[in-house]
Amino acid sequence: MAAAYNIPVTLTPHSRLGSVDFSNLPFGKVISDHMFVVDYEDGQWINPRIEPFAKMEMSPANLALHYGQSIFEGMKATKRHGEPVLFRPEMHARRLNISAERMCMPTLPEDLFMTGLKMLIELDKDWIPAENDHALYIRPLMFATDEWFGVHASEKYKFLIFTGPVGPYYPKPVKLWVEEVFTRAAQGGSGEAKCAGNYGASLLPAQRAKKNGYDQVMWMDSVEKKYVQEVGTMNLFFVMDNRIITPATTGTILRGVTRDSFITLLKDWGYTVEDRLLSISEIYDAHWRGTLQECFGAGTAAVVSHVSDITWRDRKIELPPVDAANRPVATRLKAYINDLRMGLVEDEYGWLESCINSGVMAQVQEETV
Ligand SMILES: *Cc1c(COP(=O)(O)O)cnc(C)c1O
Repeated sequence: MAAAYNIPVTLTPHSRLGSVDFSNLPFGKVISDHMFVVDYEDGQWINPRIEPFAKMEMSPANLALHYGQSIFEGMKATKRHGEPVLFRPEMHARRLNISAERMCMPTLPEDLFMTGLKMLIELDKDWIPAENDHALYIRPLMFATDEWFGVHASEKYKFLIFTGPVGPYYPKPVKLWVEEVFTRAAQGGSGEAKCAGNYGASLLPAQRAKKNGYDQVMWMDSVEKKYVQEVGTMNLFFVMDNRIITPATTGTILRGVTRDSFITLLKDWGYTVEDRLLSISEIYDAHWRGTLQECFGAGTAAVVSHVSDITWRDRKIELPPVDAANRPVATRLKAYINDLRMGLVEDEYGWLESCINSGVMAQVQEETV
């Protein structure tokens, strides 16, 4: 697939790699040397390139700032026996385009996404931490760049990918607040798009929950406040009566890559997986009958976040203490994904995509001759 696109590479004259403390990597704060950039103008994606990560100039009239045409993705690269690999990157490319369509933005050819992504990761492969549970977090991003502020769908856009090393994410078990005043997404809205605006609207309820001693908000459906949706930035899984239930993605829930991977694994491991509407009262009933075994969030950042307790109105229920004996399903899933990323288990599903031979090294050589 090489050479379908000509992607020139401008190397940074001053790598920042040497100044990074890999034993202290607060999530999102450390950014690698290079980024992949593509512009959209006159109905076409043009000028794909790799260049040093740097600040950009922006007009105060930039449309994305005013009306929110801004979408993103989040995925990880790790090293499998020293070789940089991505986890299911084509699902992220496809989801970016689903988000783009919902936000009236142009779709990006998936092979351009993949080519630029692999070149960038191979170029900055020394930024991928080798330690267990570490990864290079990858942030693809698309936003409007028209510079006049009448309400309209922008005619110009920018697509970027930049990356940053992240340390082990050992989340404490989370305390959930069942949110019935604010909602994240309504039927027909933008809940299935990974768009900036969904996050903007979620910050106030999250902050209120924090003030009251909870870690995250459990979102409910916007009509009846009856059906469980997702939590913070993760999809939800429940283990009840030895069955596994995850809320159905009926348009208001982000379709997580981790969620999809877990469903596949659990079915193959012989579990009964139910992908369906799940009401909060069913969860409480299960708790009172003693059949609620596990609850956890699933997403790229933490892979698994165990839930310690759930509070709905004035009723708090506690789940079994977090250890491998009490949480066998979540523990096994997390270990499998981490082991797969590090090359400790066979890649039976073909989920890993190698980033060597991306063509970036030949490109760099050609340019420096
Ligand atoms: C990104 C995201 C998730 C998790 O998706 P993954 O592909 O598993 O990382 C879940 N919910 C929301 C709202 C998200 O933005």
